[in-house]
Order: sequence, then structure tokens, then C-alpha cells
Amino acid sequence: MAMKYDAIVIGTGQAGPSLAARLAGRGMKVAIIERKRFGGTCVNNGCIPTKTLIASARTAHVARRAGDYGVTIGGSIVIDMKKVKMRKDAVVRRSREGLAQWLKSTQNLTVTEGHARFADARRVRVGDELLEADKFFINVGGRASIPPFPGIDQVSYLDNSTMMDVDFLPAHLIVIGGSYVGLEFAQMYRRFGSEVTVVERRPGLIHREDEDVSENIKTILESEGIKMRLGAECIGFEKRGDKVAVQVNCISGDKTVIGSHTLLAVGRIPNTNDLGVEQAGIKVDERGYIQVDDELRTNVPGIYALGDCNGRGAFTHTAYNDYEIVAANLLDGDHRRVSDRITAYALYIDPPLGRAGMTEAQVRKSGRKALIGKLPMTEVGRAREKGETDGFMKILVDAETKKILGASLLGIECDEVIHSILDVMYANAPYTVIQRAMHIHPTVSELIPTMLGELKPLE
Ligand SMILES: Cc1cc2nc3c(=O)[nH]c(=O)nc-3n(C[C@H](O)[C@H](O)[C@H](O)COP(=O)(O)OP(=O)(O)OC[C@H]3O[C@@H](n4cnc5c(N)ncnc54)[C@H](O)[C@@H]3O)c2cc1C
Repeated sequence: MAMKYDAIVIGTGQAGPSLAARLAGRGMKVAIIERKRFGGTCVNNGCIPTKTLIASARTAHVARRAGDYGVTIGGSIVIDMKKVKMRKDAVVRRSREGLAQWLKSTQNLTVTEGHARFADARRVRVGDELLEADKFFINVGGRASIPPFPGIDQVSYLDNSTMMDVDFLPAHLIVIGGSYVGLEFAQMYRRFGSEVTVVERRPGLIHREDEDVSENIKTILESEGIKMRLGAECIGFEKRGDKVAVQVNCISGDKTVIGSHTLLAVGRIPNTNDLGVEQAGIKVDERGYIQVDDELRTNVPGIYALGDCNGRGAFTHTAYNDYEIVAANLLDGDHRRVSDRITAYALYIDPPLGRAGMTEAQVRKSGRKALIGKLPMTEVGRAREKGETDGFMKILVDAETKKILGASLLGIECDEVIHSILDVMYANAPYTVIQRAMHIHPTVSELIPTMLGELKPLE
């Protein structure tokens, strides 16, 4: 006999819990199922722990530079990796336990722990239990992709989850993958004191970004002593005693890098392989992403997919926005759609990259007439005062409508500054609104109007 609910949420990532609580708040009988740890990737092995570790790494970096600011530290800078991990664990635990407590104390909401698998389009099995509902909300997220690199089964490697257990300093960390996840770990461990090599298959880092952004980030990371092996087209692994040898077959330099540890950060795959999507008749694409429409409905009536597993976003804020879209349509009579949202994200190296809308390459490809503004961080008073002038800010504007098309801000506090641009984009207002706004001095944001005052045609 199946236990009957009005709605079942699978996964407690960044969309499921809020949606479950909203539905339960409307008097629906709701179940939420979690197979591992409450809070999913972001809380346990994604955003929260990495940003907590990055804070420790930045502290070490600033401490090493103390002399530049006239501050003398009497002794060497020592990183206690056990304490670093303990601090991270405490921050994560607080989020995870807070979430679990909230869910378990929410009225009309039943929390079930175990792996959910569809039996058919109206029932899921969790261990011996069968749960039934007319509505399902899938929020199963994703995990690190481990491609079948030659020799990968011969060596031990780390991924973003197992990195969370590291409480020691790897002598030489080889990071496979020069994109968002890999670069954050690379800089973090370099600052903790490891030797770090980034091995990237493509000729440049973070290939989705403009070349000037990618190049500038490379320069920043290299200036901290991170070694880059780009254009590594034939990556392979081999055990060498207690070390790992990575064949890189690069455009230049040695063909092998030998390190003490290796981290695989080469993309993510959705957790849909063991969900029983076939039994429910839910369509997935060739990579396993659940196919959804603009309101996150799957092809099966009553079944929705939210967060990373639908392939429409890969961030906590896109997953949470998915929840808002579904809740608005189902509960508020407010017609919200995925296509309403503007691309926005940050890369949390230091200094961070804040991104909104189109890249310069995308604008060029679109063929529209555009204006561009670019300003090095050396011109930002606040950056000079702080002694952190790496990076630049770049903005693109439609020459005819004056609407902002996109921005890439690489520099201190740019993960925050980007929102002043993003909000004007959401307001669908012309760039002149920010250009004429009086901003506070001394901030990074005060240079945005200056940059907009110096726009030039995009040649
Ligand atoms: C190292 C790293 C750093 C990141 N940093 C950032 C950042 O700074 N900012 C940002 O916006 N994003 C960041 N991300 C991405 C972000 O973590 C994800 O986009 C976000 O967590 C996606 O949330 P989600 O709700 O889709 O799924 P998840 O958070 O992955 O949650 C899915 C949940 O479903 C559960 N589950 C899966 N299958 C089943 C099943 N069959 N039955 C029951 N439960 C199941 C899982 O155990 C998990 O708890 C980072 C990711 C990584 C890996």
C-alpha cells in the first residue's frame, strides 16, 4: 500500500525545501525525500564550504602581504589545516542542521530519508516504502563527472566532495580542469601553501568567458605561483610510488606533471541515472538532464524538475529561482518563466569575477551595433587604497536602445558590484540611469558611471 501525499519533493537542494515548505503552508500534505545530506551540494560540498575555505586562504594571503600595509607580523604565517577544516565543518553543519530542523518542524511536511526511485509516474519507492502523489518536484542536483581518462582507475583522486575531508596540506595538488570549480580550489590551496598545477584541455582557462577575462585571470593566478598546463589534449594518469603522474601532452613544456594529489574538476553530471526516469516516462537528454519547458514542467503531467538536474542553470541562485518560478505559477497565479531571468554568476577566485548578461564574444556574434566600456581596476581609487588593483571592468551596451547587454567585472568586490548593473538590466532601463546616478565615494561602484561615460563603438 502506498502512502498518499498531495505533493512529493525529491532532494533537499536549493529548490526543494523552500517549495516543500510553501506547498505545506498552503495546507497540502507534502513529503520531501533526501538520500544523503540535507542541503545538497551547495551546503555540503559546493558554495558554502568552498567560500568558507576561500576566506581562510584569503586571510593567509593578506597576512603574507601584511608588510605591504606597514603591518609587521612577528613570525611566519602557519596554516593549521585541521583548524581550517574544522571552521569549514562548523559553518556547513550550522546550515545543514538548521535546514533539517526547519524541514522536520514544518507542519504538513513529512521528511523521508533514503534514495527515491520512480516506480511509475505517480509513485516513488524509498527502501521498502511506496509513496504516491499527483505532483512531483524533482530536485536531485548533480555530482562531479569522472570521465574515463586512461589510467584513472589506477590512481586515487579527489573531487569536490572528497576535497571536503582534506585536513592536511597536499605537497603538490594537480587540478584537472581550469574552469570555475577547479580555479577556486587551485588558488585556495596555493594560498594554503601547496604547490599547484592546473591542467586544462583547452588552450585557455574558463572558455565560456571572453579571452581578455580568461587571460587576466591566468596572469593573476600565475602571479601567485600557480603553474598552468593548457592545451593538455591527452590527459592520462599513472601511479608513481605514493605520487601521481599526469600525462598532459601539452603544447609546450614537459609531457608529465608529478604531484602528490590530484583533483578532478572537469564538469558535473545530473543525478538522474538512478531515479527511475524511464519507469515514470520522464524525458532526459543525452547527458541525462531532465527536459523541461519554460515553467519547469517535464513531459509528464504533474512532474516538475528544478535546479541543476534540468540543465537550465548550474548555480544555487538558478535552483532557487526555479523554486520561485514554480511556486509563483502554482500558488500565486503569477506567470513567471525561466526565460525571464538574466544570466548572472560569480567566479570566486580573489579578486572575484562578477558576470551579468552577454559576454563581449556573444555580443559580437549577435551582430548588433554595440558600445563598450572598459576600465582597469588600477583606476579605481578604492582598489588602490586597498592595495588590490588586479583586474578590469567591462560593460556592453546596445547602441540603439541604450540597454545594457552584459558586463564582466573582475576585481575586488565585483561579485557585489555586478548587482548594480544586473538590477538596471532587470528594470529594462537604459544605461544612462546608472550613468546619472550619484554613487558613494570611495567605492568600486562609483566607477561604473565613469565607465559608462566613456563608451566607445564596439569595432
Ligand atoms: C565546488 C562547488 C562550488 C560551487 N560554488 C557555487 C557558488 O559559489 N555559487 C553558486 O551559485 N553555485 C555554486 N555551485 C553550484 C551549486 O552548488 C549548485 O548549482 C546547487 O547546489 C544546485 O542545487 P540543486 O538544488 O540543483 O541540487 P543539489 O544541491 O545538488 O541537491 C540535490 C539533493 O538531492 C539529493 N538526491 C539526489 N538524488 C536523490 C534521490 N534519488 N533520492 C533522494 N535524494 C536525492 C542529493 O543527495 C542532494 O542532497 C558550486 C558547486 C560546486 C561543486
